[in-house]
Amino acid sequence: MRVFTAALATETNTFAPVPTGLSSFKDREYFPAGQHPNHLTGSAGPLWAARELAPARGWTLIEGMVASAQPGGTTTRQAYETLRDELLADLRAALPVDIALIGLHGAMVADGYDDCEGDLLARVRALVGPDAVVGAELDPHNHLSEAMVRHADLLVAFKEYPHIDVLERGRELVALCEAAALRRIKPVSAVVDCHMVVPFHTTRQPARGLVERAQALEGRDGVLSISITHGFSLGDVPDMGTKVLVYCDGDQAQADQLARRLADEIISLRDQLAVRYLSIDEALDAALASANGPVVLADRADNPGSGAPGDATFILRRMLERGLTNAAIGPMWDPMAVRTAFEAGEGATLQLRVGGKTGSCSGDPLDLACTVKCLRTEHHMSGLNGSPISVGDAAWIQASGIDIVLISLRRQATGTDVFTDLGCDLASQQIVVVKSAQHFHASFSKVARQVLYVGAPGAATPFLQTLPYQKIARPKWPLDPVV
Ligand SMILES: [Zn+2]
Repeated sequence: MRVFTAALATETNTFAPVPTGLSSFKDREYFPAGQHPNHLTGSAGPLWAARELAPARGWTLIEGMVASAQPGGTTTRQAYETLRDELLADLRAALPVDIALIGLHGAMVADGYDDCEGDLLARVRALVGPDAVVGAELDPHNHLSEAMVRHADLLVAFKEYPHIDVLERGRELVALCEAAALRRIKPVSAVVDCHMVVPFHTTRQPARGLVERAQALEGRDGVLSISITHGFSLGDVPDMGTKVLVYCDGDQAQADQLARRLADEIISLRDQLAVRYLSIDEALDAALASANGPVVLADRADNPGSGAPGDATFILRRMLERGLTNAAIGPMWDPMAVRTAFEAGEGATLQLRVGGKTGSCSGDPLDLACTVKCLRTEHHMSGLNGSPISVGDAAWIQASGIDIVLISLRRQATGTDVFTDLGCDLASQQIVVVKSAQHFHASFSKVARQVLYVGAPGAATPFLQTLPYQKIARPKWPLDPVV
C-alpha cells in the first residue's frame, strides 16, 4: 500500500491585527517533504501515526511538507497558495497513492479563501482520484464545511481541550483509513449544525462527560467515529459554529440519527458549557481572597493560541495600579523589549517599555522601572504533547514586585517551564497570569490552587456580541436566541 501524509495548519482570527505570512509558518513549524523531525509536532498526528504503523504493515510511506503557523490574523494569499501548492506538488510526485493523510486545523482563512481546508481537500481528491482514501485530522476549533466532508472519506477531530490527544486521534484516523482502503468498512457521514458556538473545556463537566459518552459509542455497532466541532468564534466565515460529525459503517440512517441525538444533547447543555469570564478586578479580588496561591488567571482575550498578539497590558496595568506584588505574568510577546533587556544584561536596572505595541486591542504600553533577572537565548517550553516549543529569546524581568516573562516568538503559555526554567518560581506566587485560553490548563493546573478565566479586552475576546461579524450564518446562539 502506498500512503502519503502531509500537513498544513493554522487557526485564523479574522479580527486579529497580525497577518499570517510565510514567516509565521517558518517561525513555528515548516518542514519540506521528508524533513519532519523525529518528534511529534502539533499538526503531524497523521504523519506520526503512519510512521508508527508503516513498518509492520509494509507500507510505502511518502512524507510531504508539514507546515503550521501560530494562530494569527488572516493568512496572506501568497502564504496559503505557496504552501498549498507545495503540498500538492509533493502529493503529485507520490502518485499513485492508496491513502492520503492530511494534518489540518480546519479554521484557516486566507485572503480570498474562507474555507482553505475545503479548497485543499478538493484539490487532494482531484489528484488522488475517487478510489483512494482521503483522511484528515482536525482541531475541534474548526469551521466544518460541506466541502471538507465531501472531499474527505474520514475527518477526525481532537476530542480534548487542551488538545492532548493529537496522537491518539491520529492513530484512529490512520486505522480507519486503512480499513476503508482495504474495503473492510464503508464510512458514511452525517453532520448536524447546532446553530451555536460555545467553549468545550473538557477538563470539567459537562464537556468531560460528552467526550466520554462519544468515545463509548465509537468502535461498536457500526459507529466508526464521532467528532464534535466546538467552533472557533473568532473566525468570521459562513461555516463557523458548533457541529457534530458522525461516521457509521454503511448505514446512513444510523449516522443521521446519532448525529442528531448528540447535537440535541449538546444544545441542551449549552448554558452549562458556557464559561464564566470574570472582569479583571473581579478576578484579582478573587485571587487575593484565596487563602493559598498560586491562583492562575487565564487572559483569554490575549491568547496567542486564538490569534491574539499576546502583548496586551490591560491586566498587568491593573495589577500595577493596585500595587499587587507576589504575582507573575507571561509569556508576553515583545521582541523589542527582549532585545533591550539583552542589551542591558542580567542584573541591570532600566526603564523598559513593555507590551501594548501591536495595536489598540493590546492597550497602551507600560513604561516600567525594572530589573533584568534572567536572559535566555532560544528558550523553550513544553508543548501539550511533550515536545518542546521554541519561544525565541526570553527575558524574566521584575517591576514593582511583579515578575514578567517576555518572549520574542509569539506563543501561548503551554508549559510552566516558560517561567520556571528562567528561575521564576511559580509555587510561591499568589497570582499567575497566563496568556492562554485553555491549553495552559494541562501544565499550570499542576501548580494552581485555583484557575480563573478573565474576560479582559483583547483580540480574542470571549464577548462575541462585541465582534463585528459579517459572514457567519445566523441565527447563532449566544448571539441570537435559538430555540
Ligand atoms: Zn483548538
